[in-house]
Amino acid sequence: MTEKVRSKIDIHLPESTSADDDWAQFRQVERVAMALTQSYKYSLGKVSRFFMELENGRFLATRCDGCAKVFAPPRPLCPSCLAVADWVELSGQGVVKTYSVLHFSPGSNDDVRALQTPYVLAYVLLDGADTLFPHLLKAPPDQVHSGLRVRVAYSDEPVHHPIHLMYFVPVVERQRQ
Ligand SMILES: [Zn+2]
Repeated sequence: MTEKVRSKIDIHLPESTSADDDWAQFRQVERVAMALTQSYKYSLGKVSRFFMELENGRFLATRCDGCAKVFAPPRPLCPSCLAVADWVELSGQGVVKTYSVLHFSPGSNDDVRALQTPYVLAYVLLDGADTLFPHLLKAPPDQVHSGLRVRVAYSDEPVHHPIHLMYFVPVVERQRQ
């Protein structure tokens, strides 16, 4: 039998009710499955400038004055020296150290849901940085390998999260004429 309410899970019946139970006719409980979506605001905090500069096509990292380590993604504080880092601009070029090909999308937000599978998540060591930057690499999976030169590309399309203002693409070597 097809239920008219598609989200119905079950109807819970009480085991027994006594004659003097004033609530007897309220103890039959229908349960339905409902999806809950929620939008909320959260702060990008101390690394906000990184995201704001992506709108201007600039790729920022942070550098520790004490040990000269460069963090990309940026960290406001050096974990070794506990010193507050400074902002530095990088060229946005780098090299793939390792990568994954995703055949299933986590669908964590509308930017991710819009991606066609399979797509590539690469760990990129940016020129001048000491840490790996994990992010989307727009390239055919069979053309991606460790050691591939890549660069940051900036999206002109509206996005939901500012991290999607950027992605990596392979560096195309200029053909000799
Ligand atoms: Zn340091």
